[in-house]
Amino acid sequence: MNAILKIRNKIPVLTFRLVSFFLFILLFELTANAQYFGRNRPGYRSFDFKVYESPHFTIYHYFDNDSVINALANRFEHWYIRHSQLFTDTFEKPSPILIYQNHPEFQQTTAISGGISIGTSGVTEALKNRVVIPVLETNAQTDHVIGHELVHVFHFRALYIDDSLSLNSLRNLPLWLVEGMAEYFSIGSVDAHTSMIIRDAIREDDFPSLAEMTRDYSYNPYRYGHSFVAFLGRTWGDDIIAPLYRETAKFGYERAMERIIGLNASTVSDLWKSSNITHFQPYLDDTLSHKPIGERLLR
Ligand SMILES: [Zn+2]
Repeated sequence: MNAILKIRNKIPVLTFRLVSFFLFILLFELTANAQYFGRNRPGYRSFDFKVYESPHFTIYHYFDNDSVINALANRFEHWYIRHSQLFTDTFEKPSPILIYQNHPEFQQTTAISGGISIGTSGVTEALKNRVVIPVLETNAQTDHVIGHELVHVFHFRALYIDDSLSLNSLRNLPLWLVEGMAEYFSIGSVDAHTSMIIRDAIREDDFPSLAEMTRDYSYNPYRYGHSFVAFLGRTWGDDIIAPLYRETAKFGYERAMERIIGLNASTVSDLWKSSNITHFQPYLDDTLSHKPIGERLLR
């Protein structure tokens, strides 16, 4: 078995089933890399939260250094501008954010019922539409989590704003679409981890259809979802993605694709697969033809 299949199979199916279950209350984030692997659960401490108001957010934090919270607030505002354009939605009042200074302290939060695992890098609560995140080890990781969780804030708002939708509509939304959007809107179309998984799926002739991804969560919904939503953006433009999300919440993804794209879902699924095969085949041949370095040097 190759490395990537092992990675895919390692993603615990039960975890994703639980995630689906909790979607009605919360969106939990699972990072591919458990950054905090091996740490003991820390002792509890109390936090003296302060309030920072930015134009679109009320941020609860306990940083002493104003420059840190200013910088974080700027990142939230940066992502707000991008996402509000993609969702054609603006906040009528500031949205609440709760920031912990590091991951172990985030895991102690009492704001979320239930435990937060070492692999969870952020949470967006559906009912309060509040983001709870830690500052991660690098600015890039923190920025990604902010961008990703804010997509979920707009996801939930879309359900509140439309009279025909409610949180019950979440059951119509496959995880690959929800997480794929959050990834695509926060990291763009190119991601090394996504490429690695897609390329390996092609090499192993195990590239899933949308129907297979919907019923089998062992196909990582973050990575395959990212690849699929990036394909939508490339092919039909980013402007169709939020409308497709709203139609999917109403009718499920199959009817939504017919209404928004004008093609049935299995055709879209096949186009996604063939575009990836076209893209990755040259690299695949290259990978397979690699010889050990000594052998290449002798030729
Ligand atoms: Zn997410």
